[in-house]
Amino acid sequence: MSDEPQIPVSPDDETEIPESHPRYESLLTRHRIEHGVDIGITSRQGLIAQGRGEAYDYLLGEQTIESADDAARAAAAHFLLADQPVVSVNGNVAALVPGEVVELADATGADIEVNLFNRTRERMEAIADHLREHGAEDVKGLAADGEIPGLDHARAKVDADGIGSADVVLVPLEDGDRAQALSAMGKTEVVIDLNPLSRSAQAASVPIVDNIIRAVPNITRHARELRDADEAELRAVVDSFDAETALEAAERAIRRGE
Ligand code: ATP
Ligand code: MG
Repeated sequence: MSDEPQIPVSPDDETEIPESHPRYESLLTRHRIEHGVDIGITSRQGLIAQGRGEAYDYLLGEQTIESADDAARAAAAHFLLADQPVVSVNGNVAALVPGEVVELADATGADIEVNLFNRTRERMEAIADHLREHGAEDVKGLAADGEIPGLDHARAKVDADGIGSADVVLVPLEDGDRAQALSAMGKTEVVIDLNPLSRSAQAASVPIVDNIIRAVPNITRHARELRDADEAELRAVVDSFDAETALEAAERAIRRGE
C-alpha cells in the first residue's frame, strides 16, 4: 500500500472535520454521503447501505486486507485485458469517489456508466453532471437502450454500447439480483462490497471486500503498475486469484480478526 493519505480531496466544507480525529475517515465518508443526499445524487436508501458497510469496515479494522489487495490487482489486470471495460456508478459511488472513478477510467481506458437501482431521470442527470464536474468526459447510462435479461424492466436498463456490450464490468455496491444477472450474461464482474456474504460479492468473478474509498484508488494504482505488463503477465495475475479463497479470508478477518 502507498503511504499517501487515503482520504481524497473535495467537498469544500470537509475541512471542518479535524484530520486528527481517530475516526476521521469514517466521519468524512458519512459527511460525503449526507452531502450526496443533499445535492440529489444519493438516495435515502443509500444512507442505510452506508451504515451497513461501515459496520463491516469497523470489523476489518478500516484497512485494506491482503486478500482485498490481491483482488484489486486481479481487477486491474482484468481491466487492462478487457476489450470493453465499464465502471458502473450509483448514488453512493458518485458521492464517495467521483474523482477516483474518473482516474480509474483514465488509467484503464474504461467507460463510465450511471446505473441506478432507484432510477429517476433527475438523479441520473445529477450524477452525470457531478461526474463531469470531476473530470469525466463521456458519461453513459442516459440512453438506456439495452437490457439485462432476467430482471424487471426498471432494474434491467443499461446502455447497449456500455454495460450491455461490456466484457468486464466493475459494479461497486451493486444490488445482489443485478450482480447475479450480470454474471449470468457471461461478463467478468468485479464487485466492491464490504460484506463478503452479500449475494453481490458471492456472484462476482472478482470480489473486493474493502471500502470503496480505498478500493477504487487501489485498483488504479495496480493498473498503473501493470501498465507495461504483457498479456501473459496479466493473465498470470488473473489466474492466480481465487474468488472463493478471497471471500473466505475476508470472512475470517471479520469474524475472528485474523
Ligand atoms: P444482497 O445480499 O442482495 O447483496 P445487501 O444487504 O448487500 O444484499 P444492499 O444493502 O443493497 O444489499 O447492499 C449494500 C452493500 O454495500 C452492503 O453489502 C454494504 O456492505 C456495502 N457497502 C456500503 N457502503 C460501502 C462502502 N463504502 N464500500 C464498500 N461497500 C459498501
Ligand atoms: Mg449486496
